[in-house]
Formats: sequence, structure tokens, C-alpha cells
Amino acid sequence: MSSKKTRTESDRLDRIVAEARHDRERQEKTYRGRALKMFPWICARCGREFSGKRVRELTVHHKDHNHDNNPPDGSNWELLCIYCHDNEHSRDQVAEWYDGTAPAGEQGPSSGNRPFASLKDLLKDKKS
Ligand SMILES: [Zn+2]
Ligand SMILES: [Zn+2]
Repeated sequence: MSSKKTRTESDRLDRIVAEARHDRERQEKTYRGRALKMFPWICARCGREFSGKRVRELTVHHKDHNHDNNPPDGSNWELLCIYCHDNEHSRDQVAEWYDGTAPAGEQGPSSGNRPFASLKDLLKDKKS
């Protein structure tokens, strides 16, 4: 008897969920855009500079790891290249057994060396 009502309700819920998801996507795009406008296009860890298309490799890291915490002054954001961003998060994971010893190698950018090459391939794989 109440099947009609239930359907309308679930329709509404569907729409709300879709809207929320859309909103979140839009918000994520927006905070990245805002962060890119606010900060110089430089990785906060390795100091690598980005321009043009390569800015795709620059990502917004949330210092408190809370993606919903996006203060307008950008105080929770840090621009990190995908390489350092990955490092930043995996460091959290290994911190317990790594005991503060920094991993050797991969230190300091050198123009001839391109650590991104393999990462790019990885990203390509993910997309397709
Ligand atoms: Zn970096
Ligand atoms: Zn992050």
C-alpha cells in the first residue's frame, strides 16, 4: 500500500546521494584549483617546480589528512608532487617499524634524472 511512497522516497534519496557525490567531486576540484592559485607551483618537499601540463603531477595534501577540512586560507593544504605525496602517506604507514631512520637515496632533484617516468606509467595504467 505504501509502495508508491517508498519508491518516491528512495528516488529522493538516490538524488540526494548523487548530488552529495557530485558536490564532493566539485569541491575537490575547487580546493585544488584554489590551492594552485594560492601557492606557487612548487613541491613543498623536494622543491621541484611545475608549469603548464606538468602541474598535473602536483597534488594537494591535507596536513591533518582530513579532506573535508578546507579552510579558506589554505592552512591545511600543502602542494606536493605525486612522488612526495606518496612518500608522505607511506611514511605514516611505515612509521611504526621504521623508527625514524630516513630511507636512503632519491634525495635532491637532478635535472638528468627523471623519477617521474615510472610513476607516470603507473598512473596511465590506473586510468585505462
Ligand atoms: Zn616533491
Ligand atoms: Zn595527502
